[in-house]
Amino acid sequence: MIIRFKKGINGETLEEIVKKAKAVNLEAEVIDKGTESIRLVGIKGDTSKIDTNYFLINNIEEVVRITKSYKLVSREYNQKDRIIEINNVKIGGDNSIYMAGPCSVEDNEELMLDIARKVKEKGAQIFRAGSYKPRTNAFSYQGMRKQGLPILKKIKDETGLLIVTEVMDTRRVELVAEYSDIIQVGTRNMQNFELLKEVGKQNKPVLLKRGMSASLSEFLNAAQYIVKEGNKNVMLCLRGVRPTEDGMRNMPDLGAINYLKKESNLPVIFDPSHAAGKRSLVDPHSRQAIAGGADGLIIEVHTDPDNAASDGHQTITPDSFGKIVQYGNKYIETFGRY
Ligand code: PEP
Ligand code: MN
Repeated sequence: MIIRFKKGINGETLEEIVKKAKAVNLEAEVIDKGTESIRLVGIKGDTSKIDTNYFLINNIEEVVRITKSYKLVSREYNQKDRIIEINNVKIGGDNSIYMAGPCSVEDNEELMLDIARKVKEKGAQIFRAGSYKPRTNAFSYQGMRKQGLPILKKIKDETGLLIVTEVMDTRRVELVAEYSDIIQVGTRNMQNFELLKEVGKQNKPVLLKRGMSASLSEFLNAAQYIVKEGNKNVMLCLRGVRPTEDGMRNMPDLGAINYLKKESNLPVIFDPSHAAGKRSLVDPHSRQAIAGGADGLIIEVHTDPDNAASDGHQTITPDSFGKIVQYGNKYIETFGRY
């Protein structure tokens, strides 16, 4: 439910609304604070049994019931784009950002630093690499786990790049949050609700990847789990879904970029590496995502893709990554953001 005020309200009227909400087990939050007064207040919780007239007091223009199940992350509830600001990097709104790096943190600090320096030189603002790796095969490389986190810290200290890295387990959330600027929740954990609640309690932005078989409504509901805990800085990351077209690892869900941007005010990031799982498709899919309005890309990049510890088949070189950034910048300069 959202409450719109004709002239805007002061703290006193807000208090009255907060009290009325509390009385029926709901919570009121300010959505839009104008320069002088509050124009928009949201009512959180199950409002299905509350008559909209209940909140009609002085100066209220209208009370609108939000119909979406993922209300807290819906455009209906909050029309303004969510802009996530980390140091000098802004994600969302008119900004377009690049996250790049190897699939996994590898046990070679110099190599990791070299990749980081190169992706930075080519235009990345954020370094990606998983230290905890969710692998289909138990015998595949499982990541450096705890031991890889200091390497990420070193990369941040030496290059100034922000760090995005995955957390797979509620027991590691605080540790991973300490070493990252953005906490990644992977496709396999999109509906791990306990994990979503835990990352929702951190004060670090979250990159939530779409479950490989999840509907967009399930995806947005998963994002709502994080926001409900108080962490509003969530990015929606599309990374391809099942079933696949022949020869692709996943089916690139490029068309969902626009749907999500219409349905939700959260930034949408596209991952062209996992979406098709093919090195040759990373460049064209990146271009389509930029032209289609993605707020950023997350791409697997390695100086020696064929010998990467994981996902080498979908990993590109820093030079190829640089071409994507050049295209993206040029495209946006010429045509603007979609
Ligand atoms: C990754 O980013 O390396 C990863 C494991 O992604 P996903 O969860 O999308 O498979
Ligand atoms: Mn990967």
